[in-house]
Amino acid sequence: MANILDGKKIARDIQDETREEVEAFVSSTGIQPCLAAVLVGEDPASQVYVRNKRRDCERVGIQSQLHTLSPDTSMHELTSLVDQLNEAQNVHGILVQLPLPQQLDETSILDRVHAQKDVDAFHPENVGRLSQGRAHFLPCTPHGVQQLLHRTGIPVSGKHVVIVGRSDIVGKPLALMLMQRDSTCGPAAANATVTICHSRSENLTELTRQADILVAAIGRPRHITADMVRPGATVIDVGINRTDDGLCGDVDFDNVAEIAANITPVPGGVGPLTRAMLLQNTLMAARLQTGIK
Ligand code: NDP
Repeated sequence: MANILDGKKIARDIQDETREEVEAFVSSTGIQPCLAAVLVGEDPASQVYVRNKRRDCERVGIQSQLHTLSPDTSMHELTSLVDQLNEAQNVHGILVQLPLPQQLDETSILDRVHAQKDVDAFHPENVGRLSQGRAHFLPCTPHGVQQLLHRTGIPVSGKHVVIVGRSDIVGKPLALMLMQRDSTCGPAAANATVTICHSRSENLTELTRQADILVAAIGRPRHITADMVRPGATVIDVGINRTDDGLCGDVDFDNVAEIAANITPVPGGVGPLTRAMLLQNTLMAARLQTGIK
């Protein structure tokens, strides 16, 4: 039976460390880092995410603001709000909760967030910096996965990581981070040989069975079955799927756990780490804008 990787516990450790770093920053600068969340519409899942992120901020001494806009908000209204938050000296990080209602152009809104306040690391400048290995902000979910591997002592350097999913939010940036020479946790958590798979990949099972570390970021409930996993592999499940039986990941947990060496649960795996890394990015944003480490 696999060792179950406790994302909740690791996220709490990261929160504790962040709280101490925030305290030190506030006492040396007199400035309290602040995250502004923008929520457009009434999507229940987005409301829960934003509420949790604000609660996390409170726990570590980061101030938070919530800007709620109606579902029929226009591009003009939303860009004006983003411009205003870009200008606000007391706001260090801006988070536009996705998905946005259909009438709003997500890409141009995300491009409009100032690169130094872009705590999700979606701005092209931050994506470019990441690909060159000199990121200011690391995207929260991939960074959470890297921290999880590092803090549970799972070697990455030299290993074959197979990622199923090539989104700009998870798969693509995770591949970039794990294949680089170094990382925020040192070279042992990077230097992987990385394969990315997607919906057009042929012989998926052949590819996933080569993985020392298999990452599922697909958005399909229990898609990764035991026959797709090499016995002894580490399996990281990024997926969050809402089904009639509740939340589940992209991995068929019960059967895969029988043969894997390590596995993340859903919930309680990658999700809490994503939230913890957002706090780190908000502190980083305050450091960048004040020029004080
Ligand atoms: P996207 O829908 O943007 O990307 C899904 C990827 O999976 C695409 O690259 C797609 O391929 C690929 N894919 C779809 N079907 C298959 C298939 N049958 N075989 C192989 N590849 C396939 O999703 P996200 O990356 O945004 O999210 C993925 C999952 O992770 C979701 O469940 C989401 O809820 C969850 N998530 C969890 C987070 C957390 O904090 N734990 C944070 C962000 C997301 P193609 O490109 O060809 O379409």
